[in-house]
Amino acid sequence: MFYLDNLTINNFRNYSNQQLEFYPNLNVIIGDNAQGKTNLIESIYYISVTRSFRTKRDYELIKWNEPFFFLKGRFTRDNLYYDIQVSYEKASQLKILINKNQINRYDHLQYFPVVAFSPDDLLIIREGPAIRRRFINLFASRLSLRYFQDLKDYQRVLMQRNFILKEKRRDSNIRGLLEPWNQALISLGSSIVLFRSELTKQLAAEVRTFSDNMTSSHERLRLEYRSTISGAENLADIENDFRYKLPELFDQEIRRGATLIGPHLDDLKIYINDFDTRHYSSQGQKRTAALALRIGEVNLFRRQCGFAPIILLDDVFSEFDSARQEFLFLFLKKYDGQSFITTSADINFLTEKVSKDLKKIYIQHGSVVDEKSRAFD
Ligand code: ATP
Ligand code: MG
Repeated sequence: MFYLDNLTINNFRNYSNQQLEFYPNLNVIIGDNAQGKTNLIESIYYISVTRSFRTKRDYELIKWNEPFFFLKGRFTRDNLYYDIQVSYEKASQLKILINKNQINRYDHLQYFPVVAFSPDDLLIIREGPAIRRRFINLFASRLSLRYFQDLKDYQRVLMQRNFILKEKRRDSNIRGLLEPWNQALISLGSSIVLFRSELTKQLAAEVRTFSDNMTSSHERLRLEYRSTISGAENLADIENDFRYKLPELFDQEIRRGATLIGPHLDDLKIYINDFDTRHYSSQGQKRTAALALRIGEVNLFRRQCGFAPIILLDDVFSEFDSARQEFLFLFLKKYDGQSFITTSADINFLTEKVSKDLKKIYIQHGSVVDEKSRAFD
């Protein structure tokens, strides 16, 4: 079993100095609005993957008017200990130590699998394709460093190619200038499309199962990777289609000054009972779909690494009816790994009903407080 044993938080968001110990199973973080529940989830996520799910800018994580933040925690996996220290000082590199060995931030992506659901995940359902591409890119990058590398290279090639299309459009040799970039675009782009479409298939099966269980099969959730390139079954077919379509777009690309085909324009379509979730779903359905995507991630991570990842669920209960709340609570209770959920509501009725065997952590003004000092209990 894999879990976070303890955590020390120093100058992270609204926490000054806090030490915490966790259960290997279910941990419930309780507190009023703006007390530090999400910040705590964020710190757990950060020490696991060395990035936040809320911001790209590490300096935002430093407590106001402080020079640095520091996180220290111990992960346990099959009786092995991993003591992690992460420290960040403004304008300098992030420093990461695992059992006293310094390591690189990106190598860190795969060590400690954790999956977070946050209310912002509703945007994955509600907004345009860019956010769904980001979702799949991040997920795929955590599963495969090769994908991560291909994606970085693809983005560089895309920038160069767009630069030529925009700035050199009157150059008589523009086709010659584009040629090497076309090759790179096709080869990297095709690998990305293939990886994404295979990942989507696997994810779709997991998502479907979770959503069937949560909604007693009333809401059939379906995922589909929609690409600007067809033949998404094997690499050669994708490359051929890409190579065939790219020259046809040449005139348009010159006019628009941009690359008009490739994985940077693709989408992950999400349907409930064959209706596009983006346009035709209720709040609760969107939340169910977003949560199902995350649980899908959990199961694919588990398959890859052979143990259950840590699940972090921030504010997941609001807008779920009592049946869905209870299902989710039971799901976490039965989960064979560690999980954390936050809530501002009184969920005693759920914890009493489902199980008393869980840890409750009460948060007030960036500190853990005693249950008794809480007003509403
Ligand atoms: P809610 O129930 O509304 O989601 P929450 O308990 O999840 O509330 P958090 O998002 O954890 O609240 O934020 C708690 C407080 O931390 C906020 O009031 C916010 O202004 C503050 N905060 C955020 N970033 C920093 C920072 N870098 N330094 C100090 N305080 C911060
Ligand atoms: Mg919050």
